[in-house]
Amino acid sequence: MIVIMQEGAQELQIQQVVEKLVDLGYDIHRSTGVTRTVLGVVGGRIIDTREIELLEGVDHVVRVTTAYKLASRQFNPEGTRIVLTNRSRRLEIGGDSLAIIAGPCSVENREQIQAIAGLVAGSGSAILRGSTFRMPFSPYSFPGLGEEGLQLLREAADQFGLFVVSEISDREQLPLFSRYVDILQVGARNMQNFNLLKELGRMEKPVLLKRGIAATLEELLLSAEHVMAGGNRQVLLCERGIRTFEGAETTTLDLAAIPMLKRLTHLPVLVDPSHGTGRRDKVIPMARAAVAAGADGLMVEVHNQPERALNDGAQSLYPSQFAQLVHELTGIAKVVGKTLA
Ligand code: PEP
Ligand code: MN
Repeated sequence: MIVIMQEGAQELQIQQVVEKLVDLGYDIHRSTGVTRTVLGVVGGRIIDTREIELLEGVDHVVRVTTAYKLASRQFNPEGTRIVLTNRSRRLEIGGDSLAIIAGPCSVENREQIQAIAGLVAGSGSAILRGSTFRMPFSPYSFPGLGEEGLQLLREAADQFGLFVVSEISDREQLPLFSRYVDILQVGARNMQNFNLLKELGRMEKPVLLKRGIAATLEELLLSAEHVMAGGNRQVLLCERGIRTFEGAETTTLDLAAIPMLKRLTHLPVLVDPSHGTGRRDKVIPMARAAVAAGADGLMVEVHNQPERALNDGAQSLYPSQFAQLVHELTGIAKVVGKTLA
């Protein structure tokens, strides 16, 4: 259930509603918007919503029939914006901004990540990606550089004033990741690692949650709810391709998920056309399409020497392709009312 307070409702009135609901056994998650306060009400026994609607300061009550509540659009109708700040900039993800996350599949060495950080910054993008603790399908592929990779990623990002995102694959890595990254990425294969999600719910850093290859949108939103129920409201969703009967592609990038998620949730929606298509010749058209369809951001793999990449070289853009793509996306973003963050 979601309780929408009247515009200008007083703090005392809000507190009285909260107290009543707590007495009834509910957990309350408060969201204070620009114009009004919304209370997400979870748990407790079923009650007649009119009892709440009659309390002073309450505008109306919405019964949420979906299994997720805090992630539902009604909980924050204005849409969530996630703010990142460092010494040189303030970046907003969500709303009318388009965020571009770019970088190699894996951090390989200092020279590589510095060269790529330079070209990411040069394109006007603000967030550097790079895996360091990988969860590869094959036990024989490059597992990542571990902590050294995180250090190199942070160092390269700082040199260019960029923010950092990297995939955390186990909750034991949390203390380490807290030191080095600005956004904690949960990979497709970990989307339903509920123990990890629960721990991320206690963090104060944004979580970028990738859709599992066999997950429905409802399952994705329920995973987001696991993080949010722990208190962390800063969740970014990322469509990255799902497994379908189509055999010509590694996965099918579900771009229809963008408008669908926009309706179901207030959380920003990103798209990863690199893992979603698996080939650089498909990455560019799908990146354009994702922005045209209303995505709040993209995650794109780019490498200074793709043919030498230790992982995913075939889906990594060449530097010149990446620069051209960002230029094009800036134009497409304008058409849908967004600007490059
Ligand atoms: C990644 O982004 O590095 C990655 C492995 O993607 P996914 O979890 O979507 O497969
Ligand atoms: Mn990759």
